[in-house]
Amino acid sequence: MLPVSEVEKIILDLVKPFDPEIDSEILPLSQAIARILAEDISSELDFPHWDNSAMDGYALCYADLENLQELKLAISSDEIPAGITIDQSLNQGECVRIFTGGMLPIGADTIVMQEDAERIDNYLYLKAKPTQGEYVRRKGEFIQAGTTLIKAGTKLGATEIGALASARCQKIKVYRQPKIAIISTGNELVSLDSFHSLQLGQIIDSNLYALSTLVTQAGAIAIPFGTVRDHPVELESVMRQAITSADLIISSGGVSVGDYDYIEEILEKIGTDIHVRSVAIKPGKPLTVASLKPFLNVNRSEDNILYFGVPGNPVSAMMSFWRFIRGAIAKLNGSHKTHWYPQFIKAITTEDLHSQGRRETYLWGSLTYQKGSPIFQPAQNYSSGNLISAIGTNALAVMRVNQTYVPEGDEVIIMLT
Ligand code: AMP
Ligand code: MG
Repeated sequence: MLPVSEVEKIILDLVKPFDPEIDSEILPLSQAIARILAEDISSELDFPHWDNSAMDGYALCYADLENLQELKLAISSDEIPAGITIDQSLNQGECVRIFTGGMLPIGADTIVMQEDAERIDNYLYLKAKPTQGEYVRRKGEFIQAGTTLIKAGTKLGATEIGALASARCQKIKVYRQPKIAIISTGNELVSLDSFHSLQLGQIIDSNLYALSTLVTQAGAIAIPFGTVRDHPVELESVMRQAITSADLIISSGGVSVGDYDYIEEILEKIGTDIHVRSVAIKPGKPLTVASLKPFLNVNRSEDNILYFGVPGNPVSAMMSFWRFIRGAIAKLNGSHKTHWYPQFIKAITTEDLHSQGRRETYLWGSLTYQKGSPIFQPAQNYSSGNLISAIGTNALAVMRVNQTYVPEGDEVIIMLT
């Protein structure tokens, strides 16, 4: 049984990140939402492209205000709204009406907000002397042409997509989404699509749905490989199929030490390297991590493919994903440079927390904010077979080995899900 931190390291060392040349695709910007940039993007333009006003007001030349008895300027008959090109210069001692986004005329270097001045007939009376350069957005002030706008590995959210649009990037190179095979094993499992009524002793294969959701949320593509019986020959055939079509495989069930737990046996038969067999974590102790040399027709030909055999208990299966697999996916698709998983914060627990202290223990619950401070409300039940108890979970309180008690009102480490 290996410690959590050691298992995390073993897994991350096994992941070979996607190659930006091979494992990438070019997408129109509108289809790149939440994808990971595969190359640095530099701006072809200066931002802003030209000096312009940040306010509705008046453009003036600061030097014209020197030696004035009274802060009074003549107002030019022109007006500069956004969207027009202006090639006239400002006459000495004059100011010109300008609107937000309007181009500064030659000679102007300062904007006075309309609220800071009074217009009487064709004269502007300034309430106070402005600072030179005030409310001017200078050409190249945000970014200069040729400099990096967004780095490879960045996940494209609203800010990035908007910035790429303003930089006229219509097509961008992103990493392809990792393909993740999901296999469920167990004689008791029945597919949700089955027409038969559930017999006593049978349960629906819910892990397929929960794990597929986690995979999709992680920006990867879940490929269901069905519900397989605890039958070595059938299982081996499905595992081999999964290996030839996915970048990473997650199977749930069959990794404990029971008589019907065949996953490790088959992985050994196939000839994989098994790196982890169990972890000092609760829930989620049985975890098999293996790396496979790919078989025929595998798209990532030279690389190892990672196999995760997670426990069948529904909360344990999700725990393995949250704690270990999520980070592996982030390293695979290049996003770990900007988004590290899992993420930890500190919060105050609303109730006493208990652990036996033998394994690193994760207690699920919900994280909310009260008066701006993070508060952790633990669930009422911690059976790893009870998925219902985990409904609404967005965080887990982490109790280290030998930490058996955290009293209500104390701070606790929280892992975000
Ligand atoms: P196992 O890891 O195979 O020993 O299974 C542990 C527990 O998880 C058993 O109670 C199984 O019935 C349950 N289980 C296994 N696979 C699934 C699944 N795909 N969906 C829901 N529960 C499962
Ligand atoms: Mg089983």
